[in-house]
Amino acid sequence: MTPEPILELRTVGARYGAVDVLRNVSIAIPKGAVTAIIGANGAGKTTLLRSISAMCAISGEILLEGQRIDQLSTNRISRRGIAHVPDGRGTLSGLSVEDNLRVGAISNRDAKTKLQDLEKIYAYFPRLKERHTQQAGTLSGGEQQMLAIGRALMQRPRVLMLDEPSFGLAPLILQEIFRIIDNINRTEGLSIILVEQNVRKALMYSTTAFLIENGEIRSSGPSAAFLENDDIKKSYLGS
Ligand code: ATP
Repeated sequence: MTPEPILELRTVGARYGAVDVLRNVSIAIPKGAVTAIIGANGAGKTTLLRSISAMCAISGEILLEGQRIDQLSTNRISRRGIAHVPDGRGTLSGLSVEDNLRVGAISNRDAKTKLQDLEKIYAYFPRLKERHTQQAGTLSGGEQQMLAIGRALMQRPRVLMLDEPSFGLAPLILQEIFRIIDNINRTEGLSIILVEQNVRKALMYSTTAFLIENGEIRSSGPSAAFLENDDIKKSYLGS
């Protein structure tokens, strides 16, 4: 049975100036699953996430649990429960790890709830706990990625969007980050959208995948089937 979608894009288009970057994108993101968005450089993957977060001009409709969100501001979309971890990661480099996490929390939560959320994030990312007083700017790339994800989780999102979490990371730390993403999904049932150039890892750690080429959805289906597909293997998996 197909799970009900948490997020739906209906004939979404996006353009920068006169250039169409996304065309006629209609996709349903299943609830409680990890969904991979894969495609070559410049295919439009980042723009897809930016469209959902109202960070670029779009046409078409975007619905979160059946409610239109495409007319809302970036801030409001975030408050509705969509957390976006951009590819630059965007941690506040002058603040400590813990202060970065506290900034991520929704402001109207009481101190006790914030503390519980903080402890939960430290349980997912023990490295962040070890380094809670360290300045974010001095963390390694992998630790900064962990902090960016942890900060997004402090929002208690309904959808977590991750743009290239593997970017620039060595294989071991990359593996650790994918395992933690998997753990968060399984433990919380959180819906996660994973934009990745590391196609193999993205397919291994997701249940559903969408392939974008030149701003259009070329194919979609179970990630396991993508891993076995000859065209995908040849073009994106190097085998
Ligand atoms: P990559 O994997 O390399 O990050 P991507 O699939 O995420 O690629 P996008 O970043 O969405 O691709 O870019 C899609 C296209 O839109 C590219 O041709 C890019 O040059 C163009 N583009 C992206 N941002 C802008 C912008 N702010 N202004 C103009 N063109 C842009």
